Amino acid sequence: MPRPIHAVIHSDALRHNMAVVRARAQDANLWAVVKANAYGHGIEHVFEAFRAADGFALLDLQEAERVRQLGWRGPILLLEGVFELRDLELCSRLGLWHVVHNEAQIDMLAAHKTHTPHRVFLKLNSGMNRLGFKPQSYRAAWARLNALPQVEEISLITHFSDADGEQGIARQLAVFQAAVEGLPGERSICNSAATLRFASGDAQARQDWVRGGIALYGSSPDYPSTSSAGWDLQPAMSLRTAIIGMQQLQVGDTVGYGSRFVAPVPMTIGIAACGYADGYPRICDTGTPILVDGVRTRTIGRVSMDMLALDLTPLLAQGRAAGLGSEVTLWGKASAAHGATVLPIDEVAACAQTVGYELMCAVAPRVAMQLEA
Ligand SMILES: *Cc1c(COP(=O)(O)O)cnc(C)c1O
Repeated sequence: MPRPIHAVIHSDALRHNMAVVRARAQDANLWAVVKANAYGHGIEHVFEAFRAADGFALLDLQEAERVRQLGWRGPILLLEGVFELRDLELCSRLGLWHVVHNEAQIDMLAAHKTHTPHRVFLKLNSGMNRLGFKPQSYRAAWARLNALPQVEEISLITHFSDADGEQGIARQLAVFQAAVEGLPGERSICNSAATLRFASGDAQARQDWVRGGIALYGSSPDYPSTSSAGWDLQPAMSLRTAIIGMQQLQVGDTVGYGSRFVAPVPMTIGIAACGYADGYPRICDTGTPILVDGVRTRTIGRVSMDMLALDLTPLLAQGRAAGLGSEVTLWGKASAAHGATVLPIDEVAACAQTVGYELMCAVAPRVAMQLEA
């Protein structure tokens, strides 16, 4: 029998979340962002559910090839554009649309020999200061692209730095509007946070294409302001394992490396087959929420490479027979047999001083994945 840890990918949740994002995006087209192997869910696992999107956005060329191999004939957008000249051959061959964010990428296009002119998304740096042309050089870049026979159509794109926070999108939206004023072409500016928070009430924000990432996977982009349930999102990934060991503690007994947990009362603990080598954060020491047979309890002591300890007190208090083989849910949903209780990934991420994005992307290759229809 394989080690019991596994990740279940819920297609119904992926579909549901896409409908939620679509409703917010109204008439805008939707890019399903599937970079980083679909935020750790596996491109092959999310593909059928996301077929209802208008396009796939990602940044690895190999991932673009995988999406084409799955039979997708619609738009694919490379969010970082190309990295070297020969990447453009793949763009021509696979019909990839690509972001252009610097002069070097325009030089490459000018040097590219192709019979099929490309659709490009010219990126404005509206304040994030990561990729893109500054407002004062944006129009010159547009004119340069527009003069190239290699370019068929230019769309306009930017990215928000604070869509999830207090600052919001107003400042960058104004910078974008001013910079693109009068330029033709479709526009794409909203990520998940901007789409959920601002798109439905603001046509200037939602524009032609929204880019949905984290929300499609069921994590709230602005947790803790709004929880995933608050946005009506469902977890698309459940990381589950089983209890493989049990210990009875006397007062004063310690648990795990560094003896970080000291039992204040006699207690029963379980040892779950999940550790930091599976992608569970080591920093999630005593107190991180976790489900056993769908009942919420907490981790205890230090997370080790392959195991962690958890408190069985809440289950025993309910008279439940937790023990070897009991189901442990690290995040996501308990199985239907255990009431499908939800433990939002965002709560675990908060205990790890990070965001749901990082946890889902970091699930280790040794964790088997199963697609649940
Ligand atoms: C990753 C990414 C997105 C999606 O962001 P979420 O916060 O996951 O919705 C959108 N646009 C760009 C350019 C990205 O790199």
